[in-house]
Amino acid sequence: MQIADERVVTLDYKLTDKDGRVIDESGGRGDFVYLHGARNIIPGLENALTGQKAGDTLEVTISPEEGYGERDERLLQPVPRSMFEGIDEVAPGMQFQAQGPDGQQHVVTVVSAEGDEVVIDGNHPLAGVELHFDVKVIDVRPATSEELEHGHAHAPGTPAH
Ligand code: ZN
Repeated sequence: MQIADERVVTLDYKLTDKDGRVIDESGGRGDFVYLHGARNIIPGLENALTGQKAGDTLEVTISPEEGYGERDERLLQPVPRSMFEGIDEVAPGMQFQAQGPDGQQHVVTVVSAEGDEVVIDGNHPLAGVELHFDVKVIDVRPATSEELEHGHAHAPGTPAH
């Protein structure tokens, strides 16, 4: 069975940057399962996987625009330290979950923290990064009607929701 919309795909993958540094890999956590065609994964990877089948391996290079987007310097903004109430030390590199204007949770990274002012970066940590995926397709199956209704895959062991 080929990868197409409304199919659930199981993958093994390794993600590296253009210098070969490993950013993420499915290895230790077991396989990665997603619903194809539902924008559950970045567009560049989803497009490259269309038409592949179990056992296929592929190497994909994805530009930022097909990945997590280009960096937007307007997303760098100063905020008062009081926004980090309850956190003893705020230091560059720390990441926090924040709620954006769209109501979605996203990650912000602390760029600097001096005096009462903390500068945060609302860009996705992988914005502006060229991504290299080594992917092996493990399994492809039709999505269940429940998965299609939810817009995501239900991996074995997923609690009912
Ligand atoms: Zn669900």
